[in-house]
Amino acid sequence: MQTRSGGIRKRNRKGLRGSESGSETKPNYTEGVVLNRPSWYDHTRQEVLDKANPKQVNGETQYQCAKGDKCSKPGGYHPASNMQVDHKTAWQEHIDNKVDDISDKNAVREAYNDPSNLQALCGSCNSKKGNRKGAALAKQFKKK
Ligand SMILES: [Zn+2]
Repeated sequence: MQTRSGGIRKRNRKGLRGSESGSETKPNYTEGVVLNRPSWYDHTRQEVLDKANPKQVNGETQYQCAKGDKCSKPGGYHPASNMQVDHKTAWQEHIDNKVDDISDKNAVREAYNDPSNLQALCGSCNSKKGNRKGAALAKQFKKK
């Protein structure tokens, strides 16, 4: 009987895919439930870039990486082609915080595209961010 909570979680996961099994726990994105990643709105990327301090450099518009002074490139300015839209809070977590019913696809997509949770990072900083998260997790486990 010690693995009861695990059993419940598994049953909920199955219930999500198949028929409703009257689960009490709200389904969410963060508990490892496999749900589709929402898609971007067409305008989201440009909106995020427009807020990233655009400036003209040698006749081309460049944008500032949200890491600013900590960007691997001094000043943090990059052409649009090197900029990526990043979720400040992991999108799964943000959706869980914002959306009551994750079967509401429009609300889920809106939370995924929520400008307050988005920033522009250069490709280099964005890939480092992922690595750092992993490294921080590994450190936590070492400490314990
Ligand atoms: Zn950067």
